[in-house]
Amino acid sequence: MVLSSTIRGSLHSKHRMISHPMVVVDVPDADPKNTSRECSVCGHINKGNRKNQAEFHCQKCGHNENADINASKNMSSRGICQLSRRPLSC
Ligand SMILES: [Zn+2]
Repeated sequence: MVLSSTIRGSLHSKHRMISHPMVVVDVPDADPKNTSRECSVCGHINKGNRKNQAEFHCQKCGHNENADINASKNMSSRGICQLSRRPLSC
C-alpha cells in the first residue's frame, strides 16, 4: 500500500500518541520559589545544595541528582499538592 507523506505522518503521530499517551492536567500556578535549592527527597532548602548550575547535592541527606531533574520533581510535588488542595508540606 502506498500512502502519501501526509497520511504517513498522521498515522505516525497517532501511533506515537498511543505508544506514549500524555495526560494534560490544568494545574494552578505552583510557587517556584526555592525549587532549585530544595531537596526532592528530604525537603531541606539550602543555597549550598546547588554545587553548580547542573549538580544538586543535599547538605542534609546527601541526595545527589541533576539539578534540573531535582527542581522538576519539586515543581511536580507542589502541583500535585495544589491539585489535592493540601498544604505545600503534603
Ligand atoms: Zn535531602
